[in-house]
Amino acid sequence: MSQVKPWSQVEDDTLDAGLPIEPAGKSSQDVAAPRQAHAGTPSPLTALRPMMNGLRSIHAILPLALAAGWALAGALTMSSHEGGLSRLQAIGVFALTVVAGVILVLAYQARRGALARLQTTISAKTRRMPGQWVDSPLGSEIQPLWDAVEKQTAQVTQQLEQLLAERKELGLELSLIEVQKRQAEAIIRSMSDPVIVTDSYDQLVLANPAAEDLFGFKCPDALRQPLANLIGDEKLLAIIRQAREADTRVARRRSEHEIGEQVFAITMSPVASCDDGGSSGAPNHGVVVLMRDITKERQSAKLKSEFVAQVAHELRTPLSSIRAYVEMLVDGEASDEKTRAEYYDIIQTSADRLGRLIDNMLNISRIEAGTVRISKEPIAVAMVAKEALDMMRPAADEKRISLTDELTPAMYRVLADRDLLYQAILNLLSNAVKYTPEGGAIQLRMIPQEQNRTLRIDVIDTGAGIPKEDLPRMFEKFFRVERNKEMAKGTGLGLNLVKQIIETVHGGELTLASEVGKGSTFTMTLPLLA
Ligand code: ADP
Repeated sequence: MSQVKPWSQVEDDTLDAGLPIEPAGKSSQDVAAPRQAHAGTPSPLTALRPMMNGLRSIHAILPLALAAGWALAGALTMSSHEGGLSRLQAIGVFALTVVAGVILVLAYQARRGALARLQTTISAKTRRMPGQWVDSPLGSEIQPLWDAVEKQTAQVTQQLEQLLAERKELGLELSLIEVQKRQAEAIIRSMSDPVIVTDSYDQLVLANPAAEDLFGFKCPDALRQPLANLIGDEKLLAIIRQAREADTRVARRRSEHEIGEQVFAITMSPVASCDDGGSSGAPNHGVVVLMRDITKERQSAKLKSEFVAQVAHELRTPLSSIRAYVEMLVDGEASDEKTRAEYYDIIQTSADRLGRLIDNMLNISRIEAGTVRISKEPIAVAMVAKEALDMMRPAADEKRISLTDELTPAMYRVLADRDLLYQAILNLLSNAVKYTPEGGAIQLRMIPQEQNRTLRIDVIDTGAGIPKEDLPRMFEKFFRVERNKEMAKGTGLGLNLVKQIIETVHGGELTLASEVGKGSTFTMTLPLLA
């Protein structure tokens, strides 16, 4: 049963009520529910309804009019009889006045009660206290007002509910976008290639550590700063600016750019904003700049084309020689046997050179491509070295070159491909014999290095030596020392092959020390087997 609070209390409640919001759809139903319940079980207040409805202030006019009429009639009678108001008339006037007063008081109280209940209901509704909702009648004057308020409240509540639901949805979307943004940033920051993102004013929006290192700025200090303040490279700035000013419909722009020694393939994609004019293509967007370091690719492409040019050149020389001498033989230019023998000899030498060139190139390219068949086994290097020394001894003897060795016991073994290791040692010994003048000395020395478990193999000669400026290029393909060219024929591939065998195949190291006129020492270092 509802309680009607004192008026003062109701006013306080109303002031304290605050603005809590009820769930969707509840208000209008909840307001209607008590009234429906009330229809089934009439409250004590309901019993008073007819009386309260009847006792309206307007109804006090009738007894008042009667009292006034009676008093007027009495006054007229009094003036004609001079006897004053009769007792009966006085009682009647008094009674009618009392009745009118009672009606006024009751009407006043009824309205005040209805207002109080209305106030209580509003207060209870705003505090979500359905138990205090008034289920008694509010009176015929206030009820329509209440109904209108209820209807309006229901509408406002519904709108509020909709807005709340939309706000909740937007909140969810926002947090989802936040998560996605953080993920995208994390991905960009973890990329090893430099990435920078600019806005439509050429200001930095995002950069990853690779970009920070390349351009020497630091986030977050650099964020929102003009790109021109962060990147000193005018050409790169112009490329980025052009990409930003370009039509957004041009999805991507690519460019190549050099920064110092590095070459970058730059991809620039427009980042269209919501107000970019859509299909208008207005240049109101930022740019994502992805820079891929292609220095190595460029270098290897350059080396490849150089290699092809060198191979063609190297092959052409012996081939031209073979062709020329064969033509002379065919034309009968070699009249005597001695000249013919000389021509045959030249043709054979050129053919051998061609064969060596092709073999070496094939070996190198197979090692580089990783397609060479390698069968590693524990090998006593001294045994392999001895074989190579024996092989080279006749050539050394021919030039009266002393060929000595200092070999380790057979217990020092390395995990190696026997044939390739033999080839490497033989190539170094062969070069030593080729580039050492008559009467010189060559030594093959093996030194086990216990501290780092490696075996050092030195090929030392007292030959022509190598100029200091040529030392860095000694292991390049086709490189030959100009001043030593006359000493021996060669392809310029032998040392590169040795380097590939020792370093790429066996994980060792090949180094060189040399001095012009004094001789050279080539050192192979291989990991020793336990
Ligand atoms: P090739 O000997 O077939 O020309 P290499 O790659 O074996 O090719 O050698 C490259 C160049 O290095 C040679 O042309 C030669 O000028 C120089 N060279 C190699 N070994 C020695 C050495 N022991 N002493 C002096 N110069 C050498």
